[in-house]
Amino acid sequence: MKKPKPRPGIMDIELYIGGKSTVEGMPNILKLSSNENPSGPPLAAKQALISAGLSLHRYPPSDHLDLRSAIAKIHGLDVSKIICGCGSDELISLLCRAYAGPGVEVIHTSHGFLMYRICAMAAGATVVSVLEKDRHVDVDAILNAINSNTGVIFIANPGNPTGTKILDVEIERLIKGTPKDVLVVLDGAYADYVNGWDGGAKFVESQANVVMLRTMSKMYGLGGLRVGWGYAPQHIIDVLDRVRAPFNLSVPALLAGEAAVKDKEFVNAHRKQNNAARTWLAAELLKIGVQSDPSEANFILARFSDQAQAEACDDYLQSIGVLVRRVGSYGLPNALRITVPDMAGCERVIAGVKSFFGGNSYEL
Ligand SMILES: *Cc1c(COP(=O)(O)O)cnc(C)c1O
Repeated sequence: MKKPKPRPGIMDIELYIGGKSTVEGMPNILKLSSNENPSGPPLAAKQALISAGLSLHRYPPSDHLDLRSAIAKIHGLDVSKIICGCGSDELISLLCRAYAGPGVEVIHTSHGFLMYRICAMAAGATVVSVLEKDRHVDVDAILNAINSNTGVIFIANPGNPTGTKILDVEIERLIKGTPKDVLVVLDGAYADYVNGWDGGAKFVESQANVVMLRTMSKMYGLGGLRVGWGYAPQHIIDVLDRVRAPFNLSVPALLAGEAAVKDKEFVNAHRKQNNAARTWLAAELLKIGVQSDPSEANFILARFSDQAQAEACDDYLQSIGVLVRRVGSYGLPNALRITVPDMAGCERVIAGVKSFFGGNSYEL
């Protein structure tokens, strides 16, 4: 029978599957599978959300000016170079739609965020996966992969699911070696966890082909609301504004996002809390024999001796209500990505991993 057919390549896209959040019949779940802030968003964001509920009959503004102005002020950026998206996922998609397509190569790294690949394929582009070096972005390997068909390069810094970060001098080397007509996208989804770092904004200021992406889904605890933003040269903003839907952010998302971004104290407190808990968690895992690279984000990539052991540990943790993330689809089958919880949660993870290795049963 005849039926409508999608464009070639669409059905080759592997479905993105979000982190597990429930186990049937299991109360008291500790969800550490999606890098969410364990404390949720700032109180001011929740209050803004409630007041937004009173004006749902009104269309949101299409220029996102209040949210963009708040972002510009807090981060010391130029408001005209900021664009907001329905999560930064949407901006990844818009960049691919506008700057990639059939015949254009999109470079991502072997353990890079899956959405780069998905959005590039959805745009009909050719995906080029470049090897990382010991789970770190390898600038030389990326530069070697560039050719006359290259259109876009995506790197996450810090990376997900690796948690590793490359230095600004390395980013500088990447930008210097990249032709000026190739877009370099610096995804700073976890930049908020790196104290005193701008996420790469300064490179946007000085280059015509660099874009920085940020999200409010991780540090700001607003994953459920979908707020992301990008910082890009004016000519790129002019392009993206033409392909995005005018009302891509809802009124609640705009108001809660604005309230959250203004709460500097929240960010400072949670960075401190996360980074201390992360250090403790990594050290305790190491004592049990589970290694990880120094992470700069709100998760740890725990490495096991092989895939079977990683999966058995995941199964065991799940049986005691601790949900972490398998990362085989990121080329890391012998690892598990564990979001850093609060200290009580960290202790629960360690007790769980200990009893997995020691065979002692764990009391919920
Ligand atoms: C979570 C994440 C994003 C996207 O987050 P949104 O919820 O779409 O804003 C983008 N990049 C990386 C590397 C991420 O981990």
